[in-house]
Amino acid sequence: MSDAAQRILNDVFGFPAFRPGQEEIVDALLAGENLLAVMPTGAGKSLCYQIPAILSDRPTVVVSPLVALIDDQVAGLAAHGVAAARIHSNRPRDDNVADWRRLAGGDAKLVYMSPERLMTDRMLSALAALRPGLFVIDEAHCVSKWGVAFRPDYAQLSILAERFPDATVAGFTATADKATRNDVADQLFRGRGRIFLRGFDRPNLRLAAQPRANGLAQLRAFIDGHAGESGVIYCLSRKSTEKTAAALAADGVKAIAYHAGMEPEARRAAQDRFMTEDGVAMVATVAFGMGIDKPDIRYVAHLDLPGSPEAYYQEIGRAGRDGGPAETLLLYGAEDVVLRRRMIDDGGGDDDHRRREHARLDALFAFAEASGCRRRALLAYFDEDSLDCGNCDNCLDPPRMEDATLELRLLLQAMRETGGLFGKAHLIDVLRGADTEKIRAKGHERVDAYGAGAARPKRWWMGLVNQALADGRVVVAIDGYGGLSATPRGDAVARGDDVFRIRLQAPAPGK
Ligand code: ADP
Ligand code: MG
Ligand code: ZN
Repeated sequence: MSDAAQRILNDVFGFPAFRPGQEEIVDALLAGENLLAVMPTGAGKSLCYQIPAILSDRPTVVVSPLVALIDDQVAGLAAHGVAAARIHSNRPRDDNVADWRRLAGGDAKLVYMSPERLMTDRMLSALAALRPGLFVIDEAHCVSKWGVAFRPDYAQLSILAERFPDATVAGFTATADKATRNDVADQLFRGRGRIFLRGFDRPNLRLAAQPRANGLAQLRAFIDGHAGESGVIYCLSRKSTEKTAAALAADGVKAIAYHAGMEPEARRAAQDRFMTEDGVAMVATVAFGMGIDKPDIRYVAHLDLPGSPEAYYQEIGRAGRDGGPAETLLLYGAEDVVLRRRMIDDGGGDDDHRRREHARLDALFAFAEASGCRRRALLAYFDEDSLDCGNCDNCLDPPRMEDATLELRLLLQAMRETGGLFGKAHLIDVLRGADTEKIRAKGHERVDAYGAGAARPKRWWMGLVNQALADGRVVVAIDGYGGLSATPRGDAVARGDDVFRIRLQAPAPGK
């Protein structure tokens, strides 16, 4: 079967070879296996189901959350001479009807739909008559309440497996931690299928992070090395995109602002310029990037801490799609964390949702604080093992370190003695011998670790916990209450089989 897939890859899509991970997913789908594929943005997920769809004699239904994504996909397929139908609410009824006829008549092998269009009784019955062979759920993390972008209309997709028992169900996503993955697999096919986790590693991206001092000066130094190249600079606020673009433009950089508050024409013009002209620095909010397929973006900078490792990864992932070297810089400050916490707390969702978002934010902050290989830390978050990359700021210019083996043991002891249920703030209070209501209520002033770390300031302990997280010695339970627990690498330190070193921390300003 793979021969046929290879031929479609070459002849229809014009690509010489599969990328890492694609072929085995194509094979699994051709064999009728349910699956959830987690692959980074730009990895080439679409091909993984488009090729089986083309090879199948039964229709494929693709669910996609955004009209713009649907239109892009259908246009992309048309460019390769593959007819696909689409049905969504932003089109005239007649066009939707015409597309349905093309599908029913077999002229189109795939149909792209929004979830609300698919999940009506009428549509499901009409589809049943066509005996679809494959349901594809793009952006499948939206199915899960654990995910970064839960959508109630996606939750209903979980009935597809029962309603179409002889069809294959495949989910695709770029962002799913372990809890989300298992939940999505449960929702989509009751766990009866495989999870593919592939290719998060992008060795051509150089990762770097710096505490923000003078952000604009740091940014200028960074993009100095990229004169004449295209790049994206992410800012948290609309205002800051405009201010930063103006400041860079005054320096002779071809910088343009982009955010969701601009008129559609102005946004399109900015995007067109970025796509067609060389050396444009796009200074944008996260509104920029979805569906952008520019292969030669040479740098991505963040002036503020994104909200999660998933978001960060997706945003830096827009650089170096051509495989050539690309550089990234994350600027961050403790105040970003405060702001992001407020955004999470004000952002709606239930308590569980907020707790998970806080845990993601913690994980990203820990990444920013990491003293070891950043690529390794980032991949570890996505459950991918790797060796030190030799290409990140910490690998290339290792920070000065101090030994913190004893202190990590104390932290692990405090975690053990308090039952492994508590987050870092409480644990640090225990270690520092603080007199808080929570400590008294839980009787934690009686554990042996109480006050054992009083010699170090709170800030130092925060740094230690962040670096222990970043180094995979402890983890925050994403689906729990933010409680810390030890990993096998942490246990090794507790047993005395390993040492733990952290970045020497600069004294706090003003101390
Ligand atoms: P994803 O959905 O994973 O973000 P896409 O499916 O949109 O990624 O693919 C990203 C880009 O990679 C597209 O331009 C696509 O044509 C290209 N691509 C996919 N597979 C291959 C391949 N095997 N060889 C070369 N380019 C590929
Ligand atoms: Mg995609
Ligand atoms: Zn590294």
